[in-house]
Amino acid sequence: MLLSIPKPKGRLEVVCGSMFSGKTEELISRLNRAQFKKQRVMCFKPELDTRHALNTVVSHNQKLIPCTPVKNANDLLKYDNDYDLIGIDESQFFDMNLVAVCQKLLQQNKSVVACGLDMDFLGNPFGPMPFLMAIADDVLKLHAICTICGEPAYISYRKILKKAKQKQIVLGDQNNYEARCRNCIDYKLNIFKSAQK
Ligand SMILES: [Zn+2]
Repeated sequence: MLLSIPKPKGRLEVVCGSMFSGKTEELISRLNRAQFKKQRVMCFKPELDTRHALNTVVSHNQKLIPCTPVKNANDLLKYDNDYDLIGIDESQFFDMNLVAVCQKLLQQNKSVVACGLDMDFLGNPFGPMPFLMAIADDVLKLHAICTICGEPAYISYRKILKKAKQKQIVLGDQNNYEARCRNCIDYKLNIFKSAQK
């Protein structure tokens, strides 16, 4: 006989991919659909992302939704009485504590849609994203189109490599990055560095 312990109803969904793959558009669409179902929705982004107006999240095709900038992952818990579904944009820029924070939210029957870059410009897993993907109920990996050959893109290729060679975080748009497939990347990726030793 099954015990009648109430189970958490929260779901964690991850929407990831390279830049220009439509991640933020997908996040906005999921939040809008939840609002149609009368769910209370909130959206957060790291304060670090200063590219657009501070209190909105904007996709590259200019769709937007209200969004609260927060300093760190723990700050998400300050608002936890006010919503059923929480959207997180640019999740890769958050600290690793985001994983524990998401688990806590799920235990409180909140659902989370975490959106972000799965890899940095060198093909390395980005911040808390691989851990969120591992514990998620569902993961959607989106692909942009390679700007060189038109095949599905793999990473966000950094066009200004020399200027900011070692820094993982360089905020940007079409001026700094473009989507490229594995065959059209002309710098060495770090992905299998440890395996080659
Ligand atoms: Zn290509």
